[in-house]
Amino acid sequence: MEEIKIHEFDFSLINEFFTEMERQGPGSSEETIRALSFIGSLPNEARIADLGCGTGAQTMVLAHNTKATITALDLYAGSIERLNATAGRFGLQHRVKGVVGSMDDLPFQDGEFDLIWSEGAIANIGFEKGLNYWKNFLKKDGYVAVTYESWFTEERPAEIEKWWVDAVPEIGTIGRNICTMQKAGYIPLASFTLPESCWTDSYFTPQKARQVEFLKAHKGNKIAEDMIAFLRREAELYLKYKQYYGYVFYIGKKI
Ligand code: SAH
Repeated sequence: MEEIKIHEFDFSLINEFFTEMERQGPGSSEETIRALSFIGSLPNEARIADLGCGTGAQTMVLAHNTKATITALDLYAGSIERLNATAGRFGLQHRVKGVVGSMDDLPFQDGEFDLIWSEGAIANIGFEKGLNYWKNFLKKDGYVAVTYESWFTEERPAEIEKWWVDAVPEIGTIGRNICTMQKAGYIPLASFTLPESCWTDSYFTPQKARQVEFLKAHKGNKIAEDMIAFLRREAELYLKYKQYYGYVFYIGKKI
């Protein structure tokens, strides 16, 4: 049987599922802070863009750990609404602003940002393409920090190879991705692998109750059922093959 790919599901259905979750991809506050520790000191008036921000879990961590003004961008308006409401609850609305837009057609000026952040989202436009395009919007000596699905080994079992090549056709090893970052005109400053808990505790475990609730709400909807089956398979495959892949943070400085 042909497996269904995640991008073949209805965009609004995926977002309806995920906007109820605190995070829409693997990650954690601790790892966001760790990545931030590799960035040289940012001026008080620094500007940060958070691309593919979702409902803004990492946006709030950035806001609480810098004095910067942050523009968070996502294609899905429902996530941006939530992000702006959260910023308001934290009293951060003067420094954190969510906007709807696409990360491959940014509504920004050249050289506007000191730092471009993106967790679990760059694969939507491609690692190489994203790094090259986003560089235009960074100041000279500006930073980029992204998480991206990466292979840990040169080779892996066919089952997991096929799954990831379907989802992220240009998925590569950590070494290759660092090379890509360097070729795109950044000094690679650091890269580190997200711990397993970023997948299990932050991503898969909280999905379980939501999956049951979602299936109930969409009883008889084949697309919703296939989508949940896909997410369950993603979690199963992770447990089986986690020594072969993961999310890696890549941090670079524009030359
Ligand atoms: N950074 C968040 C969300 C990651 S999920 C977190 O780690 O929790 C990926 C996000 O990218 C989703 O919110 C999705 O709506 C968004 N996205 C997908 N394609 C996009 C595009 N072309 N431009 C902007 N956002 C996009």
